Amino acid sequence: MATAKKTARKKPAPKQLPATSLDSFKCRRTLKVGTKSYDYFSLKIAEKNGLDGISRLPYSLKVLLENLLRYEDGRSVTKADIEAMAKWLTRRKSSKEIAFRPARVLMQDFTGVPGVVDLAAMRDAVEKVGANPDKINPLAPVDLVIDHSVMVDNFGTRDAFKKNVEIEYERNGERYEFLRWGSTAFNNLRVVPPGTGICHQVNLEYLAQTVWTRKEKVAGPRNTVKTVEVAYPDSLVGTDSHTTMVNGLSVLGWGVGGIEAEAAMLGQPISMLIPEVIGFKLTGKLPEGITATDLVLTVTQKLREKGVVGKFVEFYGPGLDHLSLEDQATLSNMAPEYGATCGFFPIDAETIRYLKATGRKKARVDLVEAYAKKQGMFRTARSEDPIFTSTLELDLGDVVPSLAGPKRPQDRVPLTDVADSFAGTLVNEFKKGDEGFKREKVSGEKFTIGHGDVVIAAITSCTNTSNPSVLMAAGLVAQKANKLGLKTKPWVKPSLAPGSQVVTEYLKAAGLQKELDKLGFNLVGYGCTTCIGNSGPLPAPISKAVNDADLVVASVLSGNRNFEGRVSPDVRANYLASPPLVVAYALAGSVNVNLTEEPIGQDKKGNDVYLKDIWPTSLEIAEAVRKSVTAKMFRERYSDVFKGDTHWRKIKVTGGKTYEWNKKSTYVQHPPYFEGMTAEPQPRDAVTDAGILGLFGDSITTDHISPAGSIKADSPAGEYLKKHKVKPAEFNSYGSRRGNHEVMMRGTFANIRIKNQMVPGVEGGVTVHYPSGDAMPIYDAAMKYKEQGKSLVVFGGKEYGTGSSRDWAAKGTKLLGVEAVIVESFERIHRSNLVGMGVLPLQFEEGTSWKSLGLTGSETVTIKGTEKGIKPRMKLKLEITNEKGKTQTVPVLCRIDTADEVDYYNNGGILHFVLRNLISA
Ligand code: SF4
Repeated sequence: MATAKKTARKKPAPKQLPATSLDSFKCRRTLKVGTKSYDYFSLKIAEKNGLDGISRLPYSLKVLLENLLRYEDGRSVTKADIEAMAKWLTRRKSSKEIAFRPARVLMQDFTGVPGVVDLAAMRDAVEKVGANPDKINPLAPVDLVIDHSVMVDNFGTRDAFKKNVEIEYERNGERYEFLRWGSTAFNNLRVVPPGTGICHQVNLEYLAQTVWTRKEKVAGPRNTVKTVEVAYPDSLVGTDSHTTMVNGLSVLGWGVGGIEAEAAMLGQPISMLIPEVIGFKLTGKLPEGITATDLVLTVTQKLREKGVVGKFVEFYGPGLDHLSLEDQATLSNMAPEYGATCGFFPIDAETIRYLKATGRKKARVDLVEAYAKKQGMFRTARSEDPIFTSTLELDLGDVVPSLAGPKRPQDRVPLTDVADSFAGTLVNEFKKGDEGFKREKVSGEKFTIGHGDVVIAAITSCTNTSNPSVLMAAGLVAQKANKLGLKTKPWVKPSLAPGSQVVTEYLKAAGLQKELDKLGFNLVGYGCTTCIGNSGPLPAPISKAVNDADLVVASVLSGNRNFEGRVSPDVRANYLASPPLVVAYALAGSVNVNLTEEPIGQDKKGNDVYLKDIWPTSLEIAEAVRKSVTAKMFRERYSDVFKGDTHWRKIKVTGGKTYEWNKKSTYVQHPPYFEGMTAEPQPRDAVTDAGILGLFGDSITTDHISPAGSIKADSPAGEYLKKHKVKPAEFNSYGSRRGNHEVMMRGTFANIRIKNQMVPGVEGGVTVHYPSGDAMPIYDAAMKYKEQGKSLVVFGGKEYGTGSSRDWAAKGTKLLGVEAVIVESFERIHRSNLVGMGVLPLQFEEGTSWKSLGLTGSETVTIKGTEKGIKPRMKLKLEITNEKGKTQTVPVLCRIDTADEVDYYNNGGILHFVLRNLISA
C-alpha cells in the first residue's frame, strides 16, 4: 500500500494568485454590497476610458474582457490585447491570441490522476534541491470529483448501490489511495470522494458561485499594504469535455487537456484566440409535454448543421424568460455535441432564483446580483441584444418529443419516427432487412429477444440528472405505470445513476423513488455510469443470445454520447432520450414500438395502455418540483461533500508532504520529468543529427498519438503489464492508466490504426530503426535511440494533433525522446501542449512537406538557427542528410508563438518553468 513519507501537519491557509493589473484603462473601482466592499474592474468605466462600444459585446466576451483588465501585466496581457476585445466589435471576429486565466479548475478522476501525479513529482523535485515541498500547491483552486469509475455491475435491487460502490473501491484502490493522499497533502485541492456525485452537477449545484472573490494585497496610504477583496466573474477550465454545463449558470468554462489544466492550476494563462460568438435566439415557449432533453437534441441538430466548432455559442432572446436554469444547464452541457467551445447564458433573474433555490449564501447571491448589474452583465427582457458574429433562431414552440441515434447525438429522430427510423437502419446500415422478425431464445428464460429490443434503459448523465423536472417526470411516469400494473420488460437492464445525492432526497420526498424502484430503476451509483460507457455487463444469457444471433439490440439512455461501442460492446443502436422516455422504453421493451400510436403495454385487466395515459402534465411536474425540491436539501447534502463514506475515510493516509510511491503499482508511478533538473535552466542543446521516429500523413489525431482505449496483449504496454503480473483481462484501458507513464509512453504512437509511412502498408505503432534497418514497435526503437544518445524528430502532415485535447499525446512524445515535431500545420491546443512539454513545434513553409522533400525516414535532421536563443515565430532551417551523405536545407517556422512559450521551452517545459519560479519565490 502506498503511504506518505512525512508526518502529519497543519494545512497553511490557501495561497492566492498575485495581483498583477497595470490598469491602463483606470477602471479599478469599489462596489459596496450590504456591509462589505469589493474591488472590481469596471467595464463601464473602461468603456468611458477608451474601450468604445464594449457594452454591446456578447456577455461571454465581457467575462474574457474583465479577465484581461484584471490581469494586465504588460507581458502576457498587454493594453493592445485589451483593445483587441473592443476592436472585435468591428469585424465580429479576431485573429488575436489572448491569455485567459480562469478563476478555478475542475477535474474528474480519469484525467485528474495525472494532474495530481505531476504535482506530487514536483514536490519530490523541490525536496531534492533542498527546498520546502510545501512550496508546491495549486495556485488556483482545484476541485477533483471522483465520478468516472463506478460501473453498473448490480442493478434492480435495493442493495445495488452499496454493492457497486464496494466493487468500485476494490477495482480502483491504487488510484483512490493516491487521490486520498493528494486531498490531504495539497492546499487549494479539494477531492469529492466516490459515491457523491458527478463533477458537473456538483459544480452546478454547489461549487460554482457565478461571481468569485479573493483577497488581495494592495498599496494603502502612506506606504502601507492593505488587504482588499476583489470580485470578478466565476470562470473555469475542466479536464472533462462537459465542463460546459456550468455556462448555464453564467460561469464561462470549457474542457481542456491535462497540460492546460495543470498550467491553469499553477497560475499560468490559457492561450486562446478571441473567439467568434454565435448568437442563438430563442423565442416562444416549450409546448405541453415537451422536455429539456427534447429541446437540447433539437438545438444540437441545428447547431451541427450551422457549424460552430471552435466558437462560443451564446443564447439570447425572449425565450430565455421561459426556460428554467436547469433547462439552460442541459443546453450548456451538450456544447461538445453541438461542437461549440461553450453554450453561454447571461446572468438574469432566473440565475438569482437558482442560486437561492440551491442554498447558496445570501451574501453571495446579493453580490452576484449587484456585481452583474453594475457591470452591464445582467440581462432583462429590456436589455439590448449583444452584437454577435452571426445568429440563428428557434421558436421553442416548434420542439417535438425526440430521441437521437442510433449512433450520433446530432441525429435527432422525432418520437413519431423512431420505429421507422430503426427499421431503416436495420436494412441500410446493418444489412439485416430480411431478419426484422427474427427472435432468439434466451437460455433459462421464458422470453425471446430480437432486433431493436431495448436491453439497457439508463437514467444517467449530469446532462439530465441535474434537472429535477425531467427526473420528476420519470418518477411520475413510473407512478402512473405502476398504478396500471405495467412492468419493465424482463430483457431490459434498468438503472438510475443521478449526479448528486440531492436527487435521491427529492425523489424520496415526492414518493417517486419507490415507484422507480418497482420498475427496476433502483439507485446504482452517483456517477457517470452508462454515460461514460460503464454500463456493466448484460446478464450473461442475454449477452449470449445477442451475440449468437448477431442481434442489433438497443439502449435508451438519458446521456449525451452514443457513438458505436461507447455504451456497451453488445449494443449497436444507442438512443439518447429524456428520463421519462427512458422509463417508457423500458416498459415497451423495444424501439420497434411506435409509442405515439401503439400501446406501451396492457393494464391489469388486459386493456391497452398508451404513452399518453402515463405521461405527466407540465403542471404535475412543476407541482412535484415545487413541493419536493428545497434549498435545505442542497445545504444539508453539500455540508459534508468532501467527507466521503466509510470506505473513503478508511483509506490509510499518514499525511505527508511527499508521496511514497508504490513501485508495484501499475496505475500510479513517479514520472521522470524532473530527473536531473537543475535550479537554473541550462541552455537547451541544439538538435543535431536527430533520427526520424515517424513520417505521418494528414489529420493525425491525439488519439492516434496517445490512444485511450484498450491495450493489446502483444504491444509494448501489454508486455509491460504482463511482466508486472497483470492478466490481459485486467489490463483496463490506457485512459485508466494515465497515472503510470510506463504504460503511457509505451502506448505513444501505438494506436492500432496509425500509419507510419516509414513502413508503408503497415497499421499500428511500428517504425524502422536506423542504421539497423529493423522494423520494430515505436517504443522499442525510441529506447534504442535513447541508449545510443540520439535525439529524435517526428514529421507529420496537415492538422497534426487534431481531435480531443489529450495531454499524453505531448507527454508521451517528450518521454520517447522526441525533440521536435515538424509538420505542415498544427491543431492549436496540441501545438501549445508540445511547447508545454518542452518539444519544439516546427512548421514547413506553404507548399513544402516531408513528401515533397522525398524523405524515407532514414535521414538525419539538424535544426539550425537556435544557437542564439529562441524567439517567437522565428525562421529556422533544417539540414536533412540522407544515407549517402547528401544534405538539403529547408526553411521552417518555429511555432513557439509567445514570450511565455519561449520561457516554457527554455525551461524544458511548463512544469519546469513553474517549479523553478516556485522554488525561487
Ligand atoms: S455523466 Fe456523462 S456528461 Fe456528465 S461528466 Fe459523466 S461522462 Fe461526462
